[in-house]
Amino acid sequence: MTTTASEITYRLEQKRRIQADFPGPKSLALTERRKAVVAAGVASSVPVYVADADGGIIHDVDGNSFIDLGSGIAVTSVGASDPAVVGAVKEAVEHFTHTCFMVTPYEGYVAVAEQLNRLTPGDHEKRTVLFNSGAEAVENAVKVARLATGRDAVVAFDHAYHGRTNLTMALTAKAMPYKTNFGPFAPEVYRMPMSYPFREENPEITGAEAAKRAITMIEKQIGGEQVAAIIIEPIQGEGGFIVPADGFLPALADWAKEKGIVFIADEVQSGFCRTGEWFAVNHEGVVPDIITMAKGIAGGMPLSAITGRADLLDAVHPGGLGGTYGGNPVACAAALASIGSMEEYNLNGRAKHIEELALGRLRELAAELPGGTGGSVIGDIRGRGAMLAIELVQAGSKEPNPELTKAVAAACLKEGVIILTCGTYGNVIRLLPPLVISDDLLKDGLEVLAAAIRANA
Ligand SMILES: *Cc1c(COP(=O)(O)O)cnc(C)c1O
Repeated sequence: MTTTASEITYRLEQKRRIQADFPGPKSLALTERRKAVVAAGVASSVPVYVADADGGIIHDVDGNSFIDLGSGIAVTSVGASDPAVVGAVKEAVEHFTHTCFMVTPYEGYVAVAEQLNRLTPGDHEKRTVLFNSGAEAVENAVKVARLATGRDAVVAFDHAYHGRTNLTMALTAKAMPYKTNFGPFAPEVYRMPMSYPFREENPEITGAEAAKRAITMIEKQIGGEQVAAIIIEPIQGEGGFIVPADGFLPALADWAKEKGIVFIADEVQSGFCRTGEWFAVNHEGVVPDIITMAKGIAGGMPLSAITGRADLLDAVHPGGLGGTYGGNPVACAAALASIGSMEEYNLNGRAKHIEELALGRLRELAAELPGGTGGSVIGDIRGRGAMLAIELVQAGSKEPNPELTKAVAAACLKEGVIILTCGTYGNVIRLLPPLVISDDLLKDGLEVLAAAIRANA
C-alpha cells in the first residue's frame, strides 16, 4: 500500500507550461471545424483540444500543459491514463467489446457488483445494477423506489443537480442552463429547502433543525405516506459544493426509514474516495437504501451503477431493469482496475491530505485579502477531501460575485491551471484535482489561484 503521490510514477512530466500564442493555432483551427459541425448547445469551458493526459497534467495539441484541478468533473480520480486502468481496458477490448449483459452475460459485471456491494455503506444484503451515465442511474433508482413502495412522489432539494434527462431535469433545481425551455418536466417531483450553512437566514440553525424544516414541509405539502423516495447529494456538486450542516442527513434518513420512504444518496460526484471516504455519507454514518454512482467509478470509462437493499432491487420483475450498453465489459474492466488503484494508492488518504494542504492555503489567502477572514471576497471556504470550494462574494457581504468567479477561472487558465466553477449563483470556484496529483503540482496550482484572486479582487 502506498500512501503518498510521490510514490506514483507518471508518464508525462508533471509541470505546467503555456506558450506565448495560447490558445495555439491547432486548437483555434479545431474550434473552427467544430463550429461547423458540433451543436452550439454543447459548450466547453476550456478553448483547447487535448492531446494527452496523465496524473495531474493535461497536454493540448499545441504543446501547452495544464494543471488539471477538475478531473473532467470528478471523473479521473485515479488519473486520466492510470497504467492499471489502461492495461485492463486493453486486455478486455482484445477479447470482446460487447455482448450485452441481457443477452450473453460475462464475469466483469458480476465482479463490479461484488465490489460495489462490498464498498457501499451498510452490511445488509445488497444488489447492484449497472448503467452508462449518472442520469441513467438516478432514473433507475427512482424507478425501483416507485415500484417497491407503490408510491409516486419524489422529494429533491434546492440547489440539486441530478442530470439532463427528463426526470433528472425535473429533479435538478437550476433553470439556466439545464432546464430552460426543455419542459414539460416529469410530474410528482417536489423541492424542499436544503441545509446551506453559509446562506441560512439564521446562521445558528442546526442540521437537525434544517431537516425538521424540510420534513414539516413534506408532511404539509405531500404527506409522508405518499413519498416513494427522497433523493439528495450528500455534498451538492453543481449547486455549489454545499456541505449540509452536521446532523441534516442522518435526521432525514431516520425520518425516511420511519415513513417507509426510500432514501437515495446521489453520490455520482462525491463517491469513490473524492471526499476522503469511499462515499460522502460515510462521514456521518448514514446508510442509504439506494446509492447512485458514476463519474469516478471507472477511471474515465462510461459506467454508472445503483446499489441498494436487496428487497428493493429484487422487487423489480425480470426484464424491468437494464439497457443495451449497461455494464459494458470494457467499462467493467476499467472499474475493477480503478477500484484496485484507489486501494493500492490509498486515495482516501490522499484526498484527506489534499484537503489539509488546500484548505490551509485557502484560509491563509482569505486572511491576507483586503477585509480579511469573513470580510473579503472569499465568503466561504468549504468541502471535504478533494471536493473543495470557495464561494466568492462582494467583499464584506454575502452578495454573490459571479463576475469575479469567471475572471478568476479565466486568469488561472491563462497561467495553465484548469479550474471549474459551479453554484446556483455561479460564484463558486470548485477544486476537484485528480487524487493522484503530486503535492508540488497542487501547490503550484493553488498559488496560481491565489494570485488570480488577489489580482481580480
Ligand atoms: C454529474 C452528475 C449527475 C449526472 O451524471 P451524468 O453522467 O452526466 O448523466 C447526476 N448526479 C450528480 C450528483 C452529478 O454530479
